[in-house]
Amino acid sequence: MADTQWSEAGLEATDPASVSPDSPLLWLGGGLPPRLRWVSPSLLRALGHTLEECRARDFVQRLVHSEDLDRVLEAWRRVLRTGGSCSVEFRAGATRGRLVHLSVELSAVESSADGGGELIGTVRVLVPAARPVLQQSTTARAVLEGPSEEVAQELTRFDREHVELTDTVDGIVWSTDASFRFTFVSKQAERLLGYPTHKWMQEPDFWVKHLHPEDQEWAPAFCMKAAMECRPHELEYRMIAEDGRVVWLRDIVTVIAEDGAPRELRGIMVDVTEHRRAREHLEHMVSLLRATLDSTTDGVFVVDRRRRVTAYNGRFLELWRISDEFRKDWDSEKMLTYALTQVRHPEQFRERILALYAASEQESFDIVEMLDGRILERYSRPQRLGDTIVGRVWSYRDVTAERRAQAERERLLHEAEEAIRVRDDFLSIASHELKTPLTPLKLHLQVLRQRAVSGQPFPLQHVEKALAQVVRLSGLINDLLDTSRIQAGRLELKHEPMPLQHLTREVFADFRPVSPHHTLEYEEPDETLTIQGDRGRLAQVLVNLLENAIKYSPTGGTIRLTVERYGAQALVSVTDRGIGIPSDQMAHLFERFFRARNAPISGFGGLGLGLYICRDIVERHGGRIWVESEAGAGSTFRFTLPVMEGAADAHAPPAAPPGP
Ligand code: ADP
Repeated sequence: MADTQWSEAGLEATDPASVSPDSPLLWLGGGLPPRLRWVSPSLLRALGHTLEECRARDFVQRLVHSEDLDRVLEAWRRVLRTGGSCSVEFRAGATRGRLVHLSVELSAVESSADGGGELIGTVRVLVPAARPVLQQSTTARAVLEGPSEEVAQELTRFDREHVELTDTVDGIVWSTDASFRFTFVSKQAERLLGYPTHKWMQEPDFWVKHLHPEDQEWAPAFCMKAAMECRPHELEYRMIAEDGRVVWLRDIVTVIAEDGAPRELRGIMVDVTEHRRAREHLEHMVSLLRATLDSTTDGVFVVDRRRRVTAYNGRFLELWRISDEFRKDWDSEKMLTYALTQVRHPEQFRERILALYAASEQESFDIVEMLDGRILERYSRPQRLGDTIVGRVWSYRDVTAERRAQAERERLLHEAEEAIRVRDDFLSIASHELKTPLTPLKLHLQVLRQRAVSGQPFPLQHVEKALAQVVRLSGLINDLLDTSRIQAGRLELKHEPMPLQHLTREVFADFRPVSPHHTLEYEEPDETLTIQGDRGRLAQVLVNLLENAIKYSPTGGTIRLTVERYGAQALVSVTDRGIGIPSDQMAHLFERFFRARNAPISGFGGLGLGLYICRDIVERHGGRIWVESEAGAGSTFRFTLPVMEGAADAHAPPAAPPGP
């Protein structure tokens, strides 16, 4: 019962009212200098010392206030020598830095002239002496000078009020001596952690022992260092409550120093467990949100209403190539300036951003073209907290790949449509071209049949004309067949050496102008240019170029075939003064089915396959074919073939042949 009262009052040693009259405060001691051999438990509690401490050699000297020590020693000595009794009052040091005013009745048990006898001390606590902070107060001095009942009551009341006050504080108010041993702990300690307060003070390492294992090393070390440096400090750590709970405490500590050394530590421990949990939960939520933000494929950038950056994710930094250096002190203005250097249309970009900042309610979607070719989609919308707009969220998505794929799809679609159109054109042209020779052929054959039936002679010209149409038909069919062979990679070529001039001369000699308006010219070098190739196919190229030259020169003119040597190449050219080729059409001339838009005015049909076949044949002989032309002024088709032997001529070709 007495224990409970003491711990609740927090006044074990200093509240005389709490000392039960049934618990005698006694000690047994002797010798000079004086030494205690036994101390009653109630006196031990009242003083707050252990029996071992009390039995120490110099305990009495340490217990008694230095100013009272002589009087106490004098009384002690007298009782031992005389064997009588005497009472003495003095101030004694109790735990928690308090002074206790004691009245002791000393009675000799065994006297001795040399002071070696024994005596018994009956102790009475008169009043609690003033706390160290009050030691100099008038009230305290009055107590020390001569305690009176009123002063004692006053001090007791004061002490109680003080304790009540500390107990109402929502935290553990505590003090320790310089070795961290508690000298005072408020009642909150018991409420928060469950241990009775006297345990805090009795167990020398109470604090360290009840720290969470993870805090057991750093927290005492931290406090010790701060205490040694006489520095006030704050720290947060965990203690294990009596029921095993982990309690987070924020400890705010003041160090009372004396002569540059810590004398006492005082502080308050506040339970921050809930706060800690809430903070951990918040931190967890924030890191979850950040992880979510970082795992999105969009680059997100958030600014508040004053255009300060409040959030962004890694993808945003990636998209805008923002370095760590830049991130140190960026704001939306700096970001905007930086972004302008990367976009294709900076002025437009800036205006759009500023307009959206000005219209805080507005949402938007647009496309941003970057200088490096990337295309970003940008969404921007106000950031709301409830009904209030607190900022603006910008999100960017790299759609370059999608856009490219889309463009590629469109290109392929266009190509497919073009191919279908070309095929349809071809079908109508091909059927027309194939049908054209059939009509005259049929007519000539009908005339011949009529003549045969009527027994008349066959005019040779009908036979010749019919044959010419057959030749034309077979030419068309051969072109179609060659084209499909080229497409299938099955156009076979022979590779035999031959003098080029033999071939060109032969083809030229067989060639007949179709109209009297055409003049044919031929020129070759003296040197024989030997090439390797397929005679028939190369003749086909020459015939096609010469036929085209005549076909597309409807008003006549000179057709010139020349053979030259340029370096290691033989250069063959066919020049006419015909309709020429529009410059925008020249690039497509050697494509399959292509006919320049001015071709029909020549009045000759065609499938647009001849040049396509020529290019394949020439290139497969290691040469190149191209055209030089001017619309309305004629054309020169040239092709090269590698010459087999002999050194190259001194002079190089006038210009590198352009690609077909
Ligand atoms: P085709 O003559 O049967 O149409 P080609 O492949 O031989 O097919 O020629 C393709 C196109 O090139 C012709 O339709 C014509 O537009 C153009 N072309 C060819 N040779 C000449 C030339 N000498 N002068 C003008 N245009 C030409």
